[in-house]
Amino acid sequence: MASSASRAALSSIPLFHEKLLKSNRILAVCGAGLSAASGLPTFRGAGGLWRNHNAVDLATPEAFDADPGLVWLFYAYRRHMALTAKPNPAHYALAELARKRPGFKCLSQNVDNLHVRANHPSDQLSLLHGSLFTLKCTTCSWKDPYNIADPLCPALAPAAESNPDPTKPLPLLDPAQPLAEIRESELPHCPDCKTELQRPGVVWFGEMLDEDMLDDIEEWIEKEPVDMVLVVGTSSAVYPAAGYAERARTKGRTSVVTVNLEITEEDWGRMRKGDFGFEGDASLLLPELLRPVIGEVKGEEEEEEVEG
Ligand SMILES: [Zn+2]
Repeated sequence: MASSASRAALSSIPLFHEKLLKSNRILAVCGAGLSAASGLPTFRGAGGLWRNHNAVDLATPEAFDADPGLVWLFYAYRRHMALTAKPNPAHYALAELARKRPGFKCLSQNVDNLHVRANHPSDQLSLLHGSLFTLKCTTCSWKDPYNIADPLCPALAPAAESNPDPTKPLPLLDPAQPLAEIRESELPHCPDCKTELQRPGVVWFGEMLDEDMLDDIEEWIEKEPVDMVLVVGTSSAVYPAAGYAERARTKGRTSVVTVNLEITEEDWGRMRKGDFGFEGDASLLLPELLRPVIGEVKGEEEEEEVEG
């Protein structure tokens, strides 16, 4: 357990800035907390329900097999929400860090495309769990890397509705209002094999992450010592951040820096000398933490074309 004196060092912005300015190889691991600052629900823990369904139970191949219409509505809703949300200053700060530090690599668990919309250089970004805006065939190798149609098809239109009365829940989200059953024939089918359904290009529970991507990350970590691992909007004590932080530490003196809404006593207790912890909203903290390298972040450059 860190003493109060070292706790002060662990959350010292001047000490962090000193370390950051000497850091060239930086790895970021981003989680849902980063996009929560853009207003996107995390669907985790308490409140992780969607129409009385545990969101985790909808994110499996088995759920899709059993009721593809229901699972597609959930993902169509998430696509709609992500399209209406905007990247926040933390997304822009990370994108700018990538431009300023060629030795920076960002791994994100978020599927909402907000890193991409903040113009994060694509060769310095790995989307661990895929994207809501990639479509693929459930069976063959067909893939549409980027599709932002909203709604994706007429049957999924309820997920793309705006709220007619903001004082009431969206009809789609009101468990008291029954959902119209969506038949498989109404869902988008694969244009190649013609028989199978399209599905969201996200990694579901029980599925493997993309092997080529994992190999690239592995190679990047192995190449040279990592100066800093930035853990943003997730806990540095849980997978995958914990795994990458430990891997990086085996290569040299790596500072592990946690930026999260909540940092538990256990998290603080695990931190070592030279690590840092900053508790709060990543969209406020990251621009301030990265300022010595990135300067003032402007952001919002991409937004004009998103409205239509
Ligand atoms: Zn197919």
